[in-house]
Amino acid sequence: MATRQLEIVKERLSDAVSENVPLSDWTTIRLGGPARCFVQPQSVEQLVELLQLLATLDCDYRILGGGSNLLPGDDPVEVPVIHPGNLLQWDRDDDCLRVGAGVSLSAFVARANALGLAGAHVLAGIPGQVGGALVMNAGGRYGEIADLVRQVSVVLPGGTRRELEKADLRYAYRHSELPPGAVVVGATLALRRTDDIVALKRESGRILKEKNAAQPTASWNFGCMFKNPPELSAGRLLDQAGMRGLACGGARISTLHANFVENLGQATAREVATLIEACERAALDRFGITLEREVRVWEGSAKDHYR
Ligand SMILES: Cc1cc2nc3c(=O)[nH]c(=O)nc-3n(C[C@H](O)[C@H](O)[C@H](O)COP(=O)(O)OP(=O)(O)OC[C@H]3O[C@@H](n4cnc5c(N)ncnc54)[C@H](O)[C@@H]3O)c2cc1C
Repeated sequence: MATRQLEIVKERLSDAVSENVPLSDWTTIRLGGPARCFVQPQSVEQLVELLQLLATLDCDYRILGGGSNLLPGDDPVEVPVIHPGNLLQWDRDDDCLRVGAGVSLSAFVARANALGLAGAHVLAGIPGQVGGALVMNAGGRYGEIADLVRQVSVVLPGGTRRELEKADLRYAYRHSELPPGAVVVGATLALRRTDDIVALKRESGRILKEKNAAQPTASWNFGCMFKNPPELSAGRLLDQAGMRGLACGGARISTLHANFVENLGQATAREVATLIEACERAALDRFGITLEREVRVWEGSAKDHYR
């Protein structure tokens, strides 16, 4: 981003722009170099204005939600980083909740549970924001967010608002297909009413406990590195390939779950990326399996990382 472009964005959206923001403060693995221009739109209207402006400036951008499945690089990020964390809308329409992209997934689960609306409870314990969850199709063994989706609201590059139907997103396991550059601003999620709120909360708590016992939730990490290949577990494959506990500088494959990589405190993104690559090689050499990355690694051009 040229200095002149940054000045123009700052001038037009001064209340939303911060400069040289360390992305390590915004990712759960606590890694990432500074974003030269970090934009937190205060409203959907302001996001529309931002995307119109960036289009006229012919400027790329990246999107960061809760930063819980993301590995930015160590170097400064030159294109604007858009963080929709202030889009916190909430509405109830019968058994549907209309939720802003910036709402944390845990707040959404807690609120739905408290209202006696079942369905969100299966997402207990998954970090990040509703927007990120809709992009990643976050979920686990009891269900995924796509099961709840009715409509997803996005703003497209250039600032056009659009309502997408569930079918438009072609949801699959940890997969969605958004138009390139679309910023999710909210969604209508359909839940099921239950009279037994106590049982709903108990089940949500049980799922949370089960998850916490199986995954390293206390360390700095970004969840799973890889998707599970059909009928297989990426963690088990990596375990069998001897990757558990493997370290590179300040980064280490978790000793609890071999599909997790941890920042022990002093890691660099490069060291984490080295371990990801080592796991890919090990799965290929040992089993002939090409693992598909779940984590989004910000390498190369911003255009490759719109989603
Ligand atoms: C301890 C731990 C446990 C986890 N367990 C699970 C689990 O059980 N199941 C699971 O599915 N995941 C799990 N994850 C991974 C992660 O929490 C999910 O993928 C989550 O949904 C990511 O949401 P986020 O807001 O953090 O997205 P980010 O990590 O910020 O972004 C992920 C991708 O979505 C894009 N994006 C984010 N927000 C938007 C938006 N509003 N509009 C357009 N694009 C956007 C980003 O550009 C990026 O490409 C875990 C992570 C951790 C750290």
